[in-house]
Amino acid sequence: MNELEEILRFYQELGAGFLEYQPEPKQQILFEINREILNCRKCPLHQMKKNYVPGEGAIEPDVMFIGEGPGETEDQFGRPFVGKAGQLLDKIIEKMGYSREQVFIGNIVKCRPPANRDPQKNEVEACLPYLIRQIEVIKPRIIVCLGRVALMHLLGQTSSISSERGKLFYFKGIPVIPTYHPAYILRQNTQESIAKAKWETWRDMEKVLELLGKT
Ligand code: URA
Repeated sequence: MNELEEILRFYQELGAGFLEYQPEPKQQILFEINREILNCRKCPLHQMKKNYVPGEGAIEPDVMFIGEGPGETEDQFGRPFVGKAGQLLDKIIEKMGYSREQVFIGNIVKCRPPANRDPQKNEVEACLPYLIRQIEVIKPRIIVCLGRVALMHLLGQTSSISSERGKLFYFKGIPVIPTYHPAYILRQNTQESIAKAKWETWRDMEKVLELLGKT
């Protein structure tokens, strides 16, 4: 719930009937999806997590970034991409000319898979409908899939991320550009390979900006 909604509800409860506040339907639907996620028991991941990570950001963004699933830091804070990979994602977002609050950041699964393993089939099957509903409500102008797992589960593409990155796909009519996961960039073990992965990621983001008419 946003701050304004909370304040207005508070005054309404005090009897200020003149404040006929109607929450925006879009926000209300997202709030309901979040509520369902925070009560989800559909797969075993909920037993191992510390916090659910439903995703966060603007409700009418140009760009929606989709990662794989929460890592240790995200699990600790209940927020997506707030660890080391998140810091790199923040830089990419800024370089694109946006703030973190102006985009939406979500994940294929909302609970941390143990030891950061890939989410399993049953876990994705249980969780993906939440993301699909978020996409349908938010209707971003473009989606960026971060890494192989997001590419595979959102688009059904089983080829490698390095062969598919930068290509244009569609999900429910929304353009999708896959790129490397920021954690993949950070895992490269030479300065040269880090620079190459960053450069390729930026090429992909330039395509995103071009599709948005921002170049
Ligand atoms: N990696 C992901 O895929 N998602 C997060 O939220 C954090 C790290």
